[in-house]
Amino acid sequence: MADQNSADVARKLALLKMRFREKALCALSSLQQSLSRVHSSGVDSGEILSAYQSLHRLAGSAGTFGYSALGREARELEQIIKPFVEKAPGTHDDVSQFLDQSFMRRVEGLSDMVSGGGSESTPTGSALEEGLRDVAEPMVVLVEPEPDRARSLASALTHHGFIIHSYSGLLDVPERVLVDASAVLVRDSLFSAGGNTFGTDVTLPPIICVGSVDGFDDRYKLAENGADGFFPEPVDVPLLADYIERLIGERLELGKGRVLIVDDDPELLEHYGLVLEDGGMNVHKVRSPSELLGALSEFQPDLVLMDVQMGHYSGPTLARMLRFDPEWVGLHIIFLSSEDDREFQVDALSKGGDVFLTKPISDSFLLRAVRVKCNRARQLAKLASRDSLTGLLKHSLVKQEVGKEHSRCRRFGQDSVVAMLDLDHFKLVNDRFGHRTGDLVIKGLANLLRHRLRKTDVIGRYGGEEFLVVMPDCSLENAVEALQAVCEQMRRISYTSKGQEFFVTVSIGLAPLAAFENGEEAIEAADQALYVQKSRGRNGVSVFGEADIGSAGKVVQCTS
Ligand code: GH3
Ligand code: MG
Ligand code: MG
Repeated sequence: MADQNSADVARKLALLKMRFREKALCALSSLQQSLSRVHSSGVDSGEILSAYQSLHRLAGSAGTFGYSALGREARELEQIIKPFVEKAPGTHDDVSQFLDQSFMRRVEGLSDMVSGGGSESTPTGSALEEGLRDVAEPMVVLVEPEPDRARSLASALTHHGFIIHSYSGLLDVPERVLVDASAVLVRDSLFSAGGNTFGTDVTLPPIICVGSVDGFDDRYKLAENGADGFFPEPVDVPLLADYIERLIGERLELGKGRVLIVDDDPELLEHYGLVLEDGGMNVHKVRSPSELLGALSEFQPDLVLMDVQMGHYSGPTLARMLRFDPEWVGLHIIFLSSEDDREFQVDALSKGGDVFLTKPISDSFLLRAVRVKCNRARQLAKLASRDSLTGLLKHSLVKQEVGKEHSRCRRFGQDSVVAMLDLDHFKLVNDRFGHRTGDLVIKGLANLLRHRLRKTDVIGRYGGEEFLVVMPDCSLENAVEALQAVCEQMRRISYTSKGQEFFVTVSIGLAPLAAFENGEEAIEAADQALYVQKSRGRNGVSVFGEADIGSAGKVVQCTS
């Protein structure tokens, strides 16, 4: 499948290269005619400007399509004409200084460089990141030769919502399992030997070693062999679960990113789009700057990649204009231009861009630069909207989501559910084991919700140890079932602190969203159901206004 995609992209890129070649030959033929006219009938500032623009475009785009030498030569010729373009009209008397035979020969030579086919092959974007899965329950490979230890670690991690595949040796792990795994846990002694320990060339998921020998040199050796983490025995399982969770989050973020490309050159637009899409980015292309605002609202990109000159529109001025709107003040903008004048670049950035990339730019460099910027943009956006401890939506945002879902489910006549969750006797956990352990429990429930609920469910941290969940297009019965499973799993997670093992339970209240006038009222109802569940002995699910639904065998009656 990945091969098929790459072949497709390669074919499309080759087609674009052909289109570029045809257009470049046409442009060069007009350029030659235009310069001959200037040469024979005298100076025309319009002709000189258009010759300059033509060379400038070629300098900026040729490298992208594999004609680097052509791009360099066009750049040199462009620089020769530039001073004459910048002069006031009517002061071109000394134009013969550049428009000599040698210059004309060099311009003719450009066509030969195009028809020669281009010496370099078109670089394609890198293949999609491997193993970037987006499933609810992550799979973790465990390589542990000692069966009892393997069983106990696997069982503890299962409670945290991971699917565990156990093996006793590194070479026993099938390649396809490695490709799908979110992380690999390995007994440290198996990994200290170094080399290609798994005997395969596939890109390995993050590797976390587990072991009893824990000295500086041991850790150094593991890092040297490529380990991404180390957990000494006895393993603090909630901490390990949280660590795996973070690694998974980082990997999932890697290839994601929404990029809006604005370029009036259709081939370049198509080419950049293909390269970024092949790198796993979600791309939207805009040819005309006048479509920009509409596309931004609809596509909500993390990043805009913008040409600096598009017809009579200037990229930097468009960037300044976008900043008029508070919604786009923080938008990340990368300018792409063949303009290598530093002063110009600084001026452009001061108008509202973030980075200036000079064309021609190799596909892999473009992809890397866009990825880095995208990741940064996403991290910043996340900081603003996500709770730092759990990575879940913050209070106000999850409330907004309830409101949005309320309108949506009313409009489409669908069932949706809102749920309020609260950890039981959590104050005791803090009092007995400290705030840090308490935080770990909060993160544990957050991770469990992420794993157990559907991707379409919205999860937020409503308060300290309270969570709010919106379950779109979901019946009450299904919501009860899913959240009872969360209760069940939560109560099985074993925490250890100060040498003591303990368990924490959670109470949950549910309300059918569409039955209320607005989102606020539905949240209030879910909170009342939660309160009822607390009064009925905690550790279970209650539904607002319904009887006979509970967990752990309890009959729960909620009334308004
Ligand atoms: P109940 O079963 O009735 O919910 O009892 P409870 O002890 O959980 O209830 P209460 O709401 O009184 O206590 C919540 C505690 O959660 C109090 C507060 O110190 C703690 N808490 C709030 N935010 C955090 C946090 O971010 N980290 C930690 N560790 N504790 C927190
Ligand atoms: Mg509580
Ligand atoms: Mg509380």
